[in-house]
Amino acid sequence: MLGEGIIQGLMETARNFFGSYVEKERLVTVQFPEERRSLPEATRQFPFLLYDGDDPERGLRCVSCQICEKECPPRCIHIEKSKDRKPDFVGKQQFYPAVFNIDVSVCMSCQICVEVCPFDAIRMDTEFELSTSDRFGGLLWTKRELARSNEYYRQIHPTEAGECDERRAKELADAQAKAAAAAAAAAAKAAQAAAAPAAASNGAPGSGAKSEPAKKVVTQ
Ligand code: SF4
Ligand code: SF4
Repeated sequence: MLGEGIIQGLMETARNFFGSYVEKERLVTVQFPEERRSLPEATRQFPFLLYDGDDPERGLRCVSCQICEKECPPRCIHIEKSKDRKPDFVGKQQFYPAVFNIDVSVCMSCQICVEVCPFDAIRMDTEFELSTSDRFGGLLWTKRELARSNEYYRQIHPTEAGECDERRAKELADAQAKAAAAAAAAAAKAAQAAAAPAAASNGAPGSGAKSEPAKKVVTQ
């Protein structure tokens, strides 16, 4: 029937409108800010920098590779690489950002910085109450203001953070296994090198020591 869909839509609206007087779950609005709806896990607003442990400076995951800075469409990320290095979570010496700023007044919440980061160092926050009277300084966030702990990440994006933790734990286990194998190979090589002079002094074959010349056999 022509217009059947429109009639169904209007009936649904009317059911919700009158029903909202008796059933609270039919209300589509809440008395904000006194009442707040819990945000869906996939909510994203502006980026933050992740750190491990208790120290936002030492534990910052960012290695200052500057990929996000280059890929950010409105160019609202500014990074200055450190001169020295510090170990990352697998013990590899890495640079860190001496300066990491994001101009949130320019950020368009596209999440490209998150997608391109190879170090799981930047994620999207769910916080949206950011109004300030300082248009410039108030929305130019430094790395200190951007830093959030991994515990915070687990609270706002539990599924994503769980997958990330699992992957990083595997990477750490692989790196430790590789380091252990390399250490065992180095120890075996050192032991072999130490055993070689001892074998040489005992005149072992192939040791490089002079052996007695073979006796000549004369046949008649
Ligand atoms: S979310 Fe998009 S616009 Fe905002 S800092 Fe990241 S890449 Fe730039
Ligand atoms: S946040 Fe990620 S992509 Fe951006 S500089 Fe740091 S490590 Fe590189």
